[in-house]
Amino acid sequence: MHHFQYKNNELYCESVSVTKIAEDVGTPFYLYSHATLKRHFEAFNGAFEGMNRLVCFSAKANTNLAILHLFASMGSGLDIVSGGELYRGLEAGFSPGKIVYSGVGKKIDEIDYAISSKILMFNVESLEELELINSRAKNLKLKAPIALRVNPDVDPKTHPYISTGLKKNKFGIESDAALEAYKAAMEMKNIQIIGIDCHIGSQITQVRPFEDALTKLKLLAGTLKELGIIIQYLDMGGGLGITYSDESPPHPVEYAKALVNSLKETSLALILEPGRVIVGNAGILVTQVLYRKSGKIKEFAIVDAAMNDLMRPTLYKAFHAIEPVKKTEKGTIIADVVGPICETGDFLALDRQIADVQRGDFLAVMSAGAYGFTMSSNYCSRPRAAEVMVYKDRFEVIRQRETYQDLNKGESIPSFLL
Ligand SMILES: *Cc1c(COP(=O)(O)O)cnc(C)c1O
Repeated sequence: MHHFQYKNNELYCESVSVTKIAEDVGTPFYLYSHATLKRHFEAFNGAFEGMNRLVCFSAKANTNLAILHLFASMGSGLDIVSGGELYRGLEAGFSPGKIVYSGVGKKIDEIDYAISSKILMFNVESLEELELINSRAKNLKLKAPIALRVNPDVDPKTHPYISTGLKKNKFGIESDAALEAYKAAMEMKNIQIIGIDCHIGSQITQVRPFEDALTKLKLLAGTLKELGIIIQYLDMGGGLGITYSDESPPHPVEYAKALVNSLKETSLALILEPGRVIVGNAGILVTQVLYRKSGKIKEFAIVDAAMNDLMRPTLYKAFHAIEPVKKTEKGTIIADVVGPICETGDFLALDRQIADVQRGDFLAVMSAGAYGFTMSSNYCSRPRAAEVMVYKDRFEVIRQRETYQDLNKGESIPSFLL
């Protein structure tokens, strides 16, 4: 499954031995399977076959240029949340007419950049933002196409840190206030209303919350129509979950069926912003065991990947399976898999049954393709990991491991200290 398979007890990514890559590029590194990335995009996009839709890959899940380029070449659009992601998207070859821009805190320079790049639409998250976009568009003598991000107040039943569509969340405009906001937008000369948007959360493993959100959005579209505001795009955001351990999220086909059924009678085009479901299981993080240590009550495997490389376990208590790159007969241990960083929160797994590894062994942290590298940092002056893509029996580094010289790029000692 997912092109990460054992052959003769050796983990392979497509037709390449993971050990071979590890010996070649060093550890830690992120490893992506081209075939899996492609298959996941096709499965998702294909699920909406026959439907007027645009799938906009959510950049923040994985912004590697090679991966963005692959999706762009497959006809994908891009969902961005910053000027930096717009820059990367354009560099990777996305056409600006397929880029949607969400986020509660867009800055003036980011707004100007997006307006003049002629993106498909802004997903606007507040009235003040709407006013600012209008005035910046006026300045640039352009019209800014927008959707309002509505907070539909549905419970996605996911981790509180990744639920975004509840009244108490900072995202979007509350349902009750949306109508007034649209009326205000209608009066703005440099605003062109083209859509309604929502994004209710991430790692959602049921269809129901999406259906509930869509019902609310459709209602709003109907009300807007009566006011003479014609909506072309319904943006349902992202959020479809994946299997990290024993979750059984709906297949994209099931998800699509639910949405398409509910949209049959309308002429609305659908925009979707999947992130995790496309890249999550298309990547792993490969790390090497540095030491074993036995405490009175704990067993530790100390590895060379840390919370700065993969933040999800400590940030969300997220589960990532940890598999040996080479399977042996040695059986298993229960251990904490921890990194070198001086924080108790620096772990990849706690009290986990893993292979009985020793110094020098390689481990694969599974399902690490989404929110892995993109959330990584240089904490403790650790150069960020390399990224590698496998294509059939070939592999290529798609991001060099950072060097020590990269670490203080842009820093200087001021003259008054010299
Ligand atoms: C993060 C995000 C997504 C992608 O979410 P996934 O759970 O990775 O599919 C889509 N849209 C918006 C607005 C987001 O913030």
